[in-house]
Amino acid sequence: METEIASISKELLQRSINAEKLRYCYGCGTCTASCPVAKVVPENFNPRGLLQKIFFDLNKTLTEDELWLCAWCYTCYERCPQELKTTEIFLLTRNLAVEKGYFPKQPTALIKLILRSGRTLEVTPARDRKRAALGLREIGETVSEKALREIKIITEKSSTWRVRE
Ligand code: SF4
Ligand code: SF4
Repeated sequence: METEIASISKELLQRSINAEKLRYCYGCGTCTASCPVAKVVPENFNPRGLLQKIFFDLNKTLTEDELWLCAWCYTCYERCPQELKTTEIFLLTRNLAVEKGYFPKQPTALIKLILRSGRTLEVTPARDRKRAALGLREIGETVSEKALREIKIITEKSSTWRVRE
């Protein structure tokens, strides 16, 4: 019978991940106990649980926001006694989610802002006035045209996904 793990293997193994190893997770919980994100939002993120979801119900997991909470600190990767390459599994599963058209709204808005302004935080005229009141120079709504062009080139060269309108 075709299992979810078989489909992971087909789609992700080619990208150097040994998804078969997911079978060897023995649920020790070291990944969850070590995870800084799970410490802050335990109700929303549990690496051990996420691995199990990827293993048992990949298609459903691709649509879930939990997939996007890993901060790539690699602590679980370092500590997993079974050497499951957990962080890589999360990263590649995200890539698969994007390829299938699932992408959470929050990062999409952020990426659009970066492409439009070169910044991760919107700088409005009001914010610039506050800066001026504090004796800081005005910086305008966007970075320079040259920097924006460079951001666009970097994005085009490095992205495996496209921001959807
Ligand atoms: S640390 Fe490794 S073996 Fe332990 S629960 Fe996490 S993934 Fe499974
Ligand atoms: S790599 Fe991700 S899942 Fe693993 S410990 Fe860091 S934040 Fe948690």
